[in-house]
Amino acid sequence: MGRDWDRDRKELTDKLQGWGYLTSPTVRDAFLGVPRERFVPEDVRRSAYDDVPLPIGFGQTISAPSMIAIMLEEAALLRGESVLEIGTGCGYNAALLAEIVGPDRVVSIERLPELADLGRANLAACGYRVEVVIGDGTKGHASRAPYDCVIATAGAPRIPKPWMEQTKVGGRIIAPIGRSRLNQTLVTARKTSDSKWEYKEGTPCAFVPLIGSEGWRD
Ligand code: SAH
Repeated sequence: MGRDWDRDRKELTDKLQGWGYLTSPTVRDAFLGVPRERFVPEDVRRSAYDDVPLPIGFGQTISAPSMIAIMLEEAALLRGESVLEIGTGCGYNAALLAEIVGPDRVVSIERLPELADLGRANLAACGYRVEVVIGDGTKGHASRAPYDCVIATAGAPRIPKPWMEQTKVGGRIIAPIGRSRLNQTLVTARKTSDSKWEYKEGTPCAFVPLIGSEGWRD
C-alpha cells in the first residue's frame, strides 16, 4: 500500500497553522501545493511530513517545515514579486516561493553543482519554472537584480553587501545571521530608501553555513 502523501501534507499544514507558524492563506496554500515527498531524498522520504530538518546529501540539510514557514511569512511576498533564493538544495523552498510569486519570478543559486542539478531536476519534474544557477550566492545574482526579496537558507556571519545592492527599495532580505558557523538569528532587513534599512531580529535558528567570498570560508 502506498502512503497517502496528500493526507500527510494536509495534516502537517494544519499543524503548522495550529502552532501559529502559518498565518497567511498565501503561504498555507503554498505548503498545500508543493509535494515535499518528491523533493527530499528517498532514504528520508518517510519523514517528509514530520516537522524536522532532513539531510539532503553533501553534508547539507533542508530546514524543518516550521522554520521554512516562519521565513516565508516574514517575507510577505506578493504574486509577481521577484525573489532571489540563496541555497537551492533539493529545491523545496524554491518550489514554495514559486507557488507564491508565480512562474519565472524565482531565481535560486547553489554553490554545489550536484545539489544544483538535484534541485533543478526536482523543480522541473514537479512543473515549477524556477531558474537554478550554480555559483557563489554571497555575491547575489546581478543579472536579474533588483529583487523584491532575497531569502537565504544558509547562515552568514553578516548580510553580504551585494544582496543589499541587489534589493529594491521596499524590498527585504530574510537571512539567518550569526557569529558562529552553526547558530544564527533570523534577521529581516527592509530597504526603506536607497540608503536606509530597518532591521528586525527574530527567532534563533541553526542553518548550514553560507560558504563564499562574503560568507564563511570553505
Ligand atoms: N533551500 C534548500 C535548503 C538547502 S540547505 C532546500 O529547500 O532544500 C542550504 C544550501 O545552501 C546548501 O545546499 C548549500 O550547499 C548552499 N550554500 C551554501 N553556501 C552557498 C553559497 N555561497 N551560494 C549558494 N549556495 C550556498
